[in-house]
Amino acid sequence: MKKITIAIHGGAGTLIKGKMTAEKETAYKAALEEALQKGYEVLKKGESAMNAVEAAVCSLEDSPLFNAGKGSVFTATGTHEMDASIMDGKDLKAGAVTSITGIKNPISLARDVMNHTEHVFLGGQGAMDFAKSLDYEIMSPNYFHDDLRHDQWQQLKDTDQFQLDHSLKKDSKFGTVGAVALDQDGNIAAATSTGGMTNKRFGRVGDSPMIGAGTYANNKTCAVSCTGSGEYFIRGVVAYDVSALMEYKGLSLMDASNEVIQKRILEIGGDGGLIAVDKEGNLALPFNTEGMYRAFIDINGNKVIAIYKN
Ligand code: ASP
Repeated sequence: MKKITIAIHGGAGTLIKGKMTAEKETAYKAALEEALQKGYEVLKKGESAMNAVEAAVCSLEDSPLFNAGKGSVFTATGTHEMDASIMDGKDLKAGAVTSITGIKNPISLARDVMNHTEHVFLGGQGAMDFAKSLDYEIMSPNYFHDDLRHDQWQQLKDTDQFQLDHSLKKDSKFGTVGAVALDQDGNIAAATSTGGMTNKRFGRVGDSPMIGAGTYANNKTCAVSCTGSGEYFIRGVVAYDVSALMEYKGLSLMDASNEVIQKRILEIGGDGGLIAVDKEGNLALPFNTEGMYRAFIDINGNKVIAIYKN
């Protein structure tokens, strides 16, 4: 069989060993494994990296454990606003949505933007109108309700504070999700999906739906999905920066990823991590936080599911 590989993440942040119950840890690992396996099965069948990253991200979006889809955090007004983006390394096609509500799988809507419009990025009401034109089911707010997320929001509600999942201030659930993959045809793809920040206001948008910042894929270099302090990831154009370091400076995937996460993003005050794959099937999963929910199956079929630093 030709080389295939997939990596996923469920967010980076203040994940300190011993702070989570064994039960919770098992639940997170099981959810990661399920998503990983779903994506991998797609690749094994010979389908595209795009199908694989979409399948893996849909699975993570359907879990209440991660801050995406079903598990999305509450905004300042008690709603859920989600962002997602996907990119195909084969032809640099991309699709993205921001500030959408009620959509079960934002990543699929992002892909539909790519496939069924002349555009790359749709936001807010326009994105919702587009979803309705494709007969997307609009889920009731109950579908997205989670007691813990609600408590997190109650603590910040009516204040000017907002909370990024990566904040050191609180011991919170983490969880923007993403996937990168290499398929049997040698194509790579990346996808990222998020509920953003608890108590976010003014239509705040992070890096996750932004092509180049939170997501990027190019067969010439790499496919990248990020998680971290979005404002800094936007300013650092992080996903594209990894690709640019490879393309223009000739760095390896590992060196480029480490340069960005262990140096450049820290220098401007950001924190977080990313997952990346190149066309040879090399993987890199660097993070500069205490932990990152992550999992991968490499080109030799080795499976790893991890949360903390080694
Ligand atoms: N990067 C995401 C954002 O800023 C958050 C995350 O990675 O959890 O919206």
